[in-house]
Amino acid sequence: MNHIYRILLIEDEPQDAELNKREINKALSLCMFEVVDNKTDFLNILESYLPDVIISDYNLPSFDGLSALKIAQEICPQTPFIMVTGSINEDTAVECMKAGATDYVLKDSLKRLGSSVLSALEQRKIRQERIDAFETIRINEAKYRYMFHNNPQPMWIYDLETLTFLEVNEAAINHYGYTKEEFLSMTLKDIRPKDEIEKLIETLKSANCTFNKSVEIRHKKKNGDLIFVEIISHPIIFNQREARHVLINDITVRKEAEEKLVREQKLLRTLIDNLPDAIYVKDKECRKIVANTFDLANIGALNESEVYGKTDLELFGNEIGQRGFIDDKTVMGTGIPVLNREEDFYDPKGNQRWLLTSKIPLTDENGKTIGLVGIGRDITEQKQAQEKILKLSKGIEQSPVSIEITDVNGIIEYVNPGFCKKTGYSPEEIIGKHARVLRSEKMPPEIYIDMWETISTGGVWNNELLNKKKDGSTFWESVTLTSIKNDKKIITNYIAIKEDITERKKMQAELIQSKEKAEESDRLKSAFLANMSHEIRTPLNSIIGFSELLGDSDFDKEQKNEFIQTIVDNGNNLLVIISDIMDFSMLEARQMKIRKEVISTKKLLNELVNDFSKKANKKGIEFRSDQSQNNPDILIESDLYRIKQIFNNLIGNALKFTKQGFVEIGYQLKDDVVTFHVKDTGIGIDPEYHQSIFERFRQVDLAKTRKYGGNGLGLAISKNLTELLGGNIWVESEPDNFSNFFFTIPIK
Ligand code: ADP
Repeated sequence: MNHIYRILLIEDEPQDAELNKREINKALSLCMFEVVDNKTDFLNILESYLPDVIISDYNLPSFDGLSALKIAQEICPQTPFIMVTGSINEDTAVECMKAGATDYVLKDSLKRLGSSVLSALEQRKIRQERIDAFETIRINEAKYRYMFHNNPQPMWIYDLETLTFLEVNEAAINHYGYTKEEFLSMTLKDIRPKDEIEKLIETLKSANCTFNKSVEIRHKKKNGDLIFVEIISHPIIFNQREARHVLINDITVRKEAEEKLVREQKLLRTLIDNLPDAIYVKDKECRKIVANTFDLANIGALNESEVYGKTDLELFGNEIGQRGFIDDKTVMGTGIPVLNREEDFYDPKGNQRWLLTSKIPLTDENGKTIGLVGIGRDITEQKQAQEKILKLSKGIEQSPVSIEITDVNGIIEYVNPGFCKKTGYSPEEIIGKHARVLRSEKMPPEIYIDMWETISTGGVWNNELLNKKKDGSTFWESVTLTSIKNDKKIITNYIAIKEDITERKKMQAELIQSKEKAEESDRLKSAFLANMSHEIRTPLNSIIGFSELLGDSDFDKEQKNEFIQTIVDNGNNLLVIISDIMDFSMLEARQMKIRKEVISTKKLLNELVNDFSKKANKKGIEFRSDQSQNNPDILIESDLYRIKQIFNNLIGNALKFTKQGFVEIGYQLKDDVVTFHVKDTGIGIDPEYHQSIFERFRQVDLAKTRKYGGNGLGLAISKNLTELLGGNIWVESEPDNFSNFFFTIPIK
C-alpha cells in the first residue's frame, strides 16, 4: 500500500499555500495537506496530526518560521522542517539551518520545493532507520547485558591476546569466589591449575581455540578447590578487542559421580571376578549378559564376548544346557527364585564338577521380571569329600571287624555294627560309656598304661586283649588303637580297630600243645625204642644162651630142665612184650574188637587170686582179694579177656613195684558201674605223674624205674581198653607208701 504523506503547511497566504501544494504534488502524488497560520493552531494540530514534513513561511503576520521550527524541534524533532522564504538573505538562511531546519527554499525558486520535500523525506527515513537501529542495538545490548550478568551459568569474556578477563558475570563471581575487581585483574592462567597452563597455551595456539565446541578442563577456585568444567567458547569483539566469550558449566559433581560409578563398576567387577563362585546375569530371553571369570572358566570361554547374548542351550548344547535353560525359563515365567539347586557339569578338561546354584529374578519398578542373577557355588570338593566320607562310613559300617571311636577321655562316641554284634551291646547302651567297660580285668594293668601312653602321644598301639562282652563272657581281641587328629594336629578322638582272635588263640594253644606233645612223644618213642630193644634182647639173649647150653654134654638133665624153664619164662616174657606192642598198635589203629560175655565179678577175682598168688608169695608179698565190703557177686556184660588184660597189667605193675606188704584186688558197685581196684604197698607214684603214666611210653622218671624193667605200654593199653569198654581209669597214690589203681566197667 502506498503511503499517503501528510504535509503541514504554515502559511498565511492562501495563494502561496496553493503554490506550495502544487509544487509538492508534482513530486509526491499521494499526499494530504493541512494548513495553519498561527501558533495556537500549529500547537493544536501537532497534538493530533503527525506530519511527515513541515513547510513553513519565514514571515507570518502573527507567527514566524523560526518560532515554529523551535516548537517542532521540541514536539517532533524527527520531522523534517523546510523553511520557505521570500528574502534572499544569506544570514537568514544560515540562521535557519543553524536552528535545525532541514532545508530552505526561496519563493523565487519554489520549483525546488518538491525535490526538497523528497530529499527531506529521504533523509528522515534514513535518520529514522538509524534511530531504529540504534534503538535496537541499545535494547539488544541491554538485553544481552542483562542476560550475561543474570545468567545462572558462569560466563566471562577474556582478551584473546593478553588472556585478561574483560567481563565476568555474577554467577562466575559467586562460583569462583573472586570479586569482580579481582577477576578483571586476573588472566585465564590464574584460574587454571599450574600443571594445566602449558596445555592451555598449547590449546590457544592451536586452531582448536577458535572452535566453539565444548571441552572438559579443570579450574581452580579462589579457595583452592579444583573443579571439573565443561566450557563453550565463542569468538567475539569486545571493546574493539579480539576476545572470547566463555560459558562455564561445572561438571565436578557429574564427573565425580561418573568416576565413582566407574570406580564402583570396576570394584564390583573385580569383586565378582575374584569370587570363587560363578556369577552371571541373564536378560528376559535367558541370554547371558554378564559372566564373571569363574563362570567363563566353567564354560571354557576366554572372555565375556564369547558368551554374551547366548542362552544355556547355545552354550552347553546338551542335557546340561537344557536343564539350565528350563530353570531360567521357570524363574522368568514365575518370578520365583530357584534356590540351592545342585548342578553337575563337565568342565573344559572333562572333569565332573558340581555347582550349588541359585537363580534370583531381577524385576523392574513395576515388579515385572526382566532377567535373573545366577550364583553358582562350586561344591565339587564338598561333594567329593561327602562321597569319600560316605564310602568310608559305609566301609566302617559294613566292616566285620569291631570299630570304636572315643573322645580324648575314652568315652565312646561311635561303634560300628561289627562291634555291637561282637560285644552284644547296642549303640544306645554303649555310647557315652567309658571304653574300659570292655575290660575283663584279667589283663595286667601295665598293658593299659602302655596303651594310653602310646596313643596319647600320637603313636599306634597294637596288642592282644582279653575283653568282656555284655553278658560277661570273655574273648580275645587283636586291637589296633590310634589317634585321630584335626587340621591343627591336635588329638580329637581315638579309634580302635579290633578283631576277634579267640578261635585263633585257641588254635594256637592247641597247636603249641600238640607240638609239645609231638616232641614229647618223639622223645618217649626214642626212649621206648632203646628200652624196648633192651627188653626184647634180654629174654632173647637168655633164650639163645640157654638153648645153646642144652646141647652141651657137661650139664645134667636136672640142670638142663632148669635151662628149659628159663627159656620158657623168657619166651613168655617176649610174648608179653610182643603182644603188648601188637595190642597197642591195634588200639591205636582202632582195630581192637570186643567180644562181650556175662562175667561174674566174684569168679573173676577168684581166678586172678589163683593166677597171681604163687608169684606174689615167691616175692614174699601177700596177694589178696578185698573182702571187707562183703560185696555181692555182680554180673557184668563185657569183654572178659580184655578186663583180665587190664588186671594183668595193673597187678603185674603192683608186684613189680612192691617189695613187701600186699597187693589187693577188689570191686565196688555204684550206679550200674563196677569200679575195680588194684592196690599195692609199693614205691608209690609222685602226684605229678598221676596223669602222664597213662600215656604211651610213659614211665615215672626213667632212671628210677629203669631197674624195674618194662616197656611203658601197659597203662596206656589199660587206659585204651577201659575206655573201649565204656569206663575210665585213674590212680591214687602216695610215694613210698601205696598205689591204688581204679578202673570202671559199666554193667552193660
Ligand atoms: P612199665 O612196663 O614200665 O611198667 P606201665 O605203663 O605199666 O609200663 O607203667 C608205667 C610206669 O608207671 C612204670 O614204669 C612206673 O614208673 C609207674 N607205675 C605203674 N604202676 C606202678 C605201681 N603200682 N607202683 C609204682 N609205680 C608204678
